[in-house]
Amino acid sequence: MTFEYAPALESRTIVTIKPKYGHFINGAFVSGKKHFPTINPTTEEILSHLSLGSASDIDKAVAAAQKAYTRTWSKLSGKERGKYLYRIARILQERAREFAVLETLDNGKPIRETRDIDIPLVAAHFFYHAGWADKLDYAGLGHSPQPYGVAGQIIPWNFPLLMLAWKVAPALATGNTVVLKPAETTSLTALLFAEVCQQAELPGGVVNIVTGDGSTGATLVNHPGVHKIAFTGSTEVGKKIARAIAATDKKATLELGGKGANIVFDDAPVDEAVEGIVNGIFFNQGHVCCAGSRLILQESIAEEIIEKLKVRMAKIRVGDPLDKNTDLGAINSREQLTKIQELAAIGDAEGAQRWSPQCNLSDKGYWFAPTIFTGVTQAHRIAQEEIFGPVLSVITFRTPQEGIDKANNTPFGLSAGIWSEKGSRTLWASQQLRAGVIWANTFNKFDPTSPFGGYKESGWGREGGKHGLAAYLKTGKESGGK
Ligand code: NDP
Repeated sequence: MTFEYAPALESRTIVTIKPKYGHFINGAFVSGKKHFPTINPTTEEILSHLSLGSASDIDKAVAAAQKAYTRTWSKLSGKERGKYLYRIARILQERAREFAVLETLDNGKPIRETRDIDIPLVAAHFFYHAGWADKLDYAGLGHSPQPYGVAGQIIPWNFPLLMLAWKVAPALATGNTVVLKPAETTSLTALLFAEVCQQAELPGGVVNIVTGDGSTGATLVNHPGVHKIAFTGSTEVGKKIARAIAATDKKATLELGGKGANIVFDDAPVDEAVEGIVNGIFFNQGHVCCAGSRLILQESIAEEIIEKLKVRMAKIRVGDPLDKNTDLGAINSREQLTKIQELAAIGDAEGAQRWSPQCNLSDKGYWFAPTIFTGVTQAHRIAQEEIFGPVLSVITFRTPQEGIDKANNTPFGLSAGIWSEKGSRTLWASQQLRAGVIWANTFNKFDPTSPFGGYKESGWGREGGKHGLAAYLKTGKESGGK
């Protein structure tokens, strides 16, 4: 006998969305001239209208950040800066439900994830960096490391508030001030965060948020008053930014795309591996730069794993992300849905075999069923290009070395997972893999203390942990120290 799940809808009444938003500059909201709609990808309802940041808006935000840096923020001790960060972290925890519901409405990701993963991690990032603010001299980064000044930060739509936290918390802890440009389709939690800055009485101009599109981001990157760029997004835009700052002395961290390999060896704990594969690719609709989007399976266990994987995938609940039973929510935008559909169609055309469980997808909103492609070869585009959706490409190998070679055979190098019960094999494999983050017998685990970043076309630099602090500080001769 099977039981149906009764709907368990999270109420959206906790959230108040204004019909129109301005930018957050110098501690206050200021109206922009042009506006664009932001929509709920689950229903296609217009949630609000956001201001399209112009060159003059960026000028004002950078000027406010410069002034706040010179007059206020750089004059405060690390201990005082830390107090603000603690205050922000505590307010985020107090308003966690509001943030979780708003993120789900704006992004389409399940409330179970915003409530249990995104928002707790956001608070954890602020707590963690609050702790560092008065200990920078002891971080092993040289004597008296100094901030750069104004950091220009640009973030994508897949983890909107979490990416903001990854950027804003270390910048503030290290004494920099910030101008942040959130993604066009998911700016609402950044604007709610602006209210948190007001509530925490953060001095005006320390955090500035300018909403807009790619041109707003490009204007921020090129602004002469910005000394450090922190970007998370596609490799294509990352390359444009690298070119734009090549002839300047601007510092940059670029967190770009990935095509993570989840490698399952023949001695792996099979049921745990199946759960890890599902978590690796279907978490957050597969909109995860470090997703395990390539399953690299040892041939002798491939059939068994694929069979079990299909049984498990049939149990994934796709639907209203505000329902607490939902595992897989909406795709963030029509544009992203089209990209996923096109790449999946290329997989069909190249001869891979597509399989999805039966799903009742709503006519309204943007949806894509969890999908696997078997019979994928190295030459297939779905084995090489980032799909950024709930689509898994399965590749097999015979010898461990062949598995590693296939795992490394992409232009990216962000993440990998190893499934094996042998510690020696895990260590051997992790030394061969060209990936910034490697998980063993788990996948997609994040922690503010742990540095994150990629090799090759997955980017430059690290965010998180002590390494992430270094990206916001002049050290050694650069700071005038020893
Ligand atoms: P994009 O690179 O298109 O956008 C990222 C951000 O950059 C957005 O705010 C975007 O604005 C802005 N932007 C667009 N064009 C420019 C430009 N010329 N100059 C400056 N800024 C610009 O990526 P997506 O938003 O589509 O995000 C998905 C991509 O991000 C995937 O490839 C994914 O792998 C990667 N990613 C990487 C992560 C990592 O840590 N390595 C984490 C998360 C995502 P707008 O929204 O208006 O287009």
